[in-house]
Amino acid sequence: MKHISPIWAEALPPPLPTHPGGTLRCDVAVVGAGFAGLSAALHLLRRRPGARVVVLEAGRVGAGASGATTGMLSPGVGQDLPGLIRRLGPGNARALYLATLDAVRDAERLARDEQIACELELCGQLVVAGHRSRRLERFTAALAGLGLPFEPRPGAVRLPVAGTLHPGKLLAGLVARVTKLGGVILEGSRVRSVGTTQPVSLELEHGTVVADEVVIATAGFTPGLGVLTGRVLPVHLQVLVTAPIAHPWPGREGVLDARRLFSYWRLTNDDRLVFGGGRPRYRWRGSTAPLAPKSSLERELHHVFPDAHVEGGWTGVIGYVADALPAIHRWTRNPSVVHAVGWCGHGVALSLASGAWVTKLLCDGAAPQDLPWFRAKPPHVPFEAVRWLSFRAAVGAMSLFDRMERR
Ligand SMILES: Cc1cc2nc3c(=O)[nH]c(=O)nc-3n(C[C@H](O)[C@H](O)[C@H](O)COP(=O)(O)OP(=O)(O)OC[C@H]3O[C@@H](n4cnc5c(N)ncnc54)[C@H](O)[C@@H]3O)c2cc1C
Repeated sequence: MKHISPIWAEALPPPLPTHPGGTLRCDVAVVGAGFAGLSAALHLLRRRPGARVVVLEAGRVGAGASGATTGMLSPGVGQDLPGLIRRLGPGNARALYLATLDAVRDAERLARDEQIACELELCGQLVVAGHRSRRLERFTAALAGLGLPFEPRPGAVRLPVAGTLHPGKLLAGLVARVTKLGGVILEGSRVRSVGTTQPVSLELEHGTVVADEVVIATAGFTPGLGVLTGRVLPVHLQVLVTAPIAHPWPGREGVLDARRLFSYWRLTNDDRLVFGGGRPRYRWRGSTAPLAPKSSLERELHHVFPDAHVEGGWTGVIGYVADALPAIHRWTRNPSVVHAVGWCGHGVALSLASGAWVTKLLCDGAAPQDLPWFRAKPPHVPFEAVRWLSFRAAVGAMSLFDRMERR
């Protein structure tokens, strides 16, 4: 499999300055320049015009999942809706799902209000099954039972509040808006440690940033900061890109299949497929070093699109949480720090929406809603061997259940 850079990268802005060395003082430091970090910076600057907001990015803007994503703007969270109902009860599961629908609409509003041309289209999403699928039936029944929006289709369900976007163009637009409002974005500025006193001292490789408040938006890289270790797991996802296909489907919806280990795909503006799926990978000690996509993903793609020509693929790291819910919280031991992490592969809408939630936590001291993802600590998986083994076991079990359901 040819490993290429994400196709979105060509839309990213030119390189930005690095930390100049010495000590930099600011009002708010945001760690991570993906959707979550840039959205937080933008919302903070809108709320507090003139604030000194500095975004610290270890690599380039979009170096994490946001630059590698498939770019499908989806409702829902990492756990499926029937599972959420069992766990939280129908009322709470409905409130949570409605909040994710709002997150999709918020992302669309953000792009519109800030005039970011990122090919964002609320073209809907199809959840499909190539055979009779009890999972799809259960999902449809759950949507119907909770009075949530969906349109039944033969062998599929259409979710009307969903869409696709161009991640590179969105990142470039967010960078432009943040800098226009006076925010400073520093690339090549990896934070090594987060202080525990106020003001908060962030140690970098070549310098220090001292901030009154800090937002941690580092998704799958969070344990590398010594934060939420064993609670947020770096997990590698993979996608492929094809040459333009001859017969794109008329509605141009993003599509995912109804399996536990699902494939998902979308069209680009020039009718190429960006196709993700296969087994997510957790590496020993949570390594985030880049991987190549597995050749098995190409077989999955050709199962759905036999004639598509694969041009290459890439991987990216997400922040996975054992109970598949995000964690957005103002630290109890140091209320000047907020983290917004753990999107579990469903992060385009949620990470973008989290900028407003983080701003509310910092400026008003309260979460916007009483939802289960406003929490300090997702479940802890102790010991590296347990993390590694349990992740592999969970993925293996999902694959087995999927195969059994096909019989
Ligand atoms: C292949 C792939 C496909 C996906 N497809 C979809 C999809 O179709 N739909 C969907 O909803 N979600 C999808 N996701 C998930 C979604 O893209 C992510 O959840 C979302 O982009 C997370 O944004 P973020 O800003 O929280 O994290 P990231 O984009 O990962 O940003 C974190 C940033 O922090 C930086 N950083 C890390 N450590 C430090 C440090 N110590 N100091 C400074 N900076 C640091 C990183 O370099 C990175 O740029 C996909 C993810 C991948 C990888």
